[in-house]
Amino acid sequence: MTEVDEQAGVDAGAADAGASGPVIELVGVRKEFGDFVAVDRVELSIRRGEFFSLLGPSGCGKTTLLKMIAGFEQPTSGQVLLEDEDVSGTPPHRRNVNTVFQQYALFPHMSVFENVAFGLRAKKVDKVDVRRRSTEMLEVVRLAEFANRRPPQLSGGQQQRVALARALVNLPSALLLDEPLAALDLKLREAMQLELKRIQREVGITFVFVTHDQGEALTMSDRIAVMSEGVVEQIGTPEEIYHRPASLFVAGFIGSANLLPGTVSGHDGDDTVVDLECGVTVRACGVHPPVVGAPASIMIRPERLRVTSADGGDGRSLEGTVRDVIFQGAVVRIQLVLADGTEVVTLVDPDDDLPFLRPGSPVYVCWNPGAVYLLAGRPVRPGANSTDIDQVEAAL
Ligand code: ATP
Repeated sequence: MTEVDEQAGVDAGAADAGASGPVIELVGVRKEFGDFVAVDRVELSIRRGEFFSLLGPSGCGKTTLLKMIAGFEQPTSGQVLLEDEDVSGTPPHRRNVNTVFQQYALFPHMSVFENVAFGLRAKKVDKVDVRRRSTEMLEVVRLAEFANRRPPQLSGGQQQRVALARALVNLPSALLLDEPLAALDLKLREAMQLELKRIQREVGITFVFVTHDQGEALTMSDRIAVMSEGVVEQIGTPEEIYHRPASLFVAGFIGSANLLPGTVSGHDGDDTVVDLECGVTVRACGVHPPVVGAPASIMIRPERLRVTSADGGDGRSLEGTVRDVIFQGAVVRIQLVLADGTEVVTLVDPDDDLPFLRPGSPVYVCWNPGAVYLLAGRPVRPGANSTDIDQVEAAL
C-alpha cells in the first residue's frame, strides 16, 4: 500500500466516522435553459468509493447533471449535497470535487511533475509534502519516469493520466469525469478503461463518469444511471441493467437486444403469457406483470438464443430464415428474418459445426426458461436493436 492509499483510506475513514451518508446526493434536481428542461426529477445517491457512471445518448443531460455536481451550473430546483452538506449555491472552487474534461487543459510549459503539484502548491501545502504526494500520485498513474517531460512530449493516454493525477492529488471527495476517453482512439480507449478502474480502486475515491458509450460504462462501473431526455430511467449494477432493464429504452440502449412486440394474454405462475405480433405465444419473466390486454414486449439477448434446424416443440422457439452469417472473430453473428419480416440476431461459436447455417436456410432459434424478459409497451423499432458505439462510429 502506498502512502497515497493510506491517505485516501484515512480520509475516507475519517469522513465515514463523521458522515455515514453518501458522498453525493441529488434530491429532486431539475435544470431549465429557458423553456427547455435539460434535467428533471433526478434522485441520486452516490456511495463512497463507488465508480458511478452517467450513461445516455447525446443531449440526454449527463453533462448538465455533472456540471451541477461540480458547481458550474445551478439547479433550477432541487438540492445537491456533498458529504451531507447542501452545496446547491456553493461555487465550484469551494466544493471538494475535481473535474477532468475531455480536453485535459494541462499547462504545456510546465513539467508533468509541476502540473500534478500545481493544486497542492496553490493550497500552500508544505514543500516536502508537495514532492512526496505528487511523486506518489505519478506512481499511481505509472508516469514517475516522465516527471520531467512537458505534456506535448507525451501520448494522448499519458496526458490523460497526468490530468487524472493532477485532479486526484488533492484527494477530493469525488472526481467528476466528462467523457475523458472520447479523444482517444479505440485501442487506447479500451486500455485506459482498465487503467482508470485500477487507479480508482487504488485511490478509493468516488468517480462519477459521464459517457455515451455503453461498453465503457459496463466495463468500469459499480453502478450506472441510464438517462434519456433529462430523466434517469434506471440506476443499477451493470448486470441489473443488462439482464433486467427497467424500460424498452434501457433494453435497446444497453448491448444488443431482440425486442419483439405483443399483447399480454394471461399469466402462468410467475410468468406472463404474451401473444407476439409475429404470431407466436411465449412465456416471459419480468418484475411488473402487466394486465391482460396490455401492450408488452419481450427482450431476448442474442447470446441467449441457440440456432437449431428443428423445432423443440416446447413453446420456446421462433422460426425464421437465415439472412446473413457474419464472422466477427470470437463469435459468428447470425441475422435471421421471422415470417413477418422482423429481424432477429443471435451469436454462435465459430467452432460450432452448423452446416445448415447458410443464407436462405430455414432455422429455429430457441432459448432456455428465464431467457425471455418482459417489458411494458412496444418498441419503436421491433426486432434486433444495437447501440454498439463502435458500430455506430464505424457507420459515420
Ligand atoms: P453530450 O453527450 O452530447 O455531451 P449530454 O447528455 O451531456 O450530451 P448536455 O450537454 O447535458 O447533454 O445537454 C442537455 C441538453 O441541454 C441539450 O439539448 C443541450 O443542447 C441543452 N443545453 C446544455 N447547456 C445549455 C445551455 N447553456 N443553454 C441552453 N441549452 C443547453
